[in-house]
Amino acid sequence: MKGIVSDLNAPMRVVPTTPDEWAAYVNDWCERKGWNRDLVFEKMLMNLHSEITEAREEIRNGHGIDEIYSSATIADEGMAKPEGVPIELVDLLIRLLHIMAWRGWNIQALLETKMAYNEKRPFRHGNKTC
Ligand SMILES: [Mg+2]
Repeated sequence: MKGIVSDLNAPMRVVPTTPDEWAAYVNDWCERKGWNRDLVFEKMLMNLHSEITEAREEIRNGHGIDEIYSSATIADEGMAKPEGVPIELVDLLIRLLHIMAWRGWNIQALLETKMAYNEKRPFRHGNKTC
């Protein structure tokens, strides 16, 4: 891992570029923000699903699939909270990266392994719909 800052409240100094670097950064952020206490794998899986549900709720509330908007009020964080389906799906990605970093999984190797297999599969294997 290169350039990931691990001290409390320190801003990210180097932008991660690979999936594994992003996972390490997310895990580092989780550590600094106290999210790494009492981790339970099954609960983390359910949190993945929660983000998908939040994305669905954005659509149910009338927002477009590609729409990103900000909440009207400025939160304690000093900036308006970004909202929308893409934001909920990036929350999903962040949570997924957190799980993978926490478990010590090599995302690059996993992607290479699974996509190598996927490339060998026939066109629309199983004749299922998308
Ligand atoms: Mg969310």
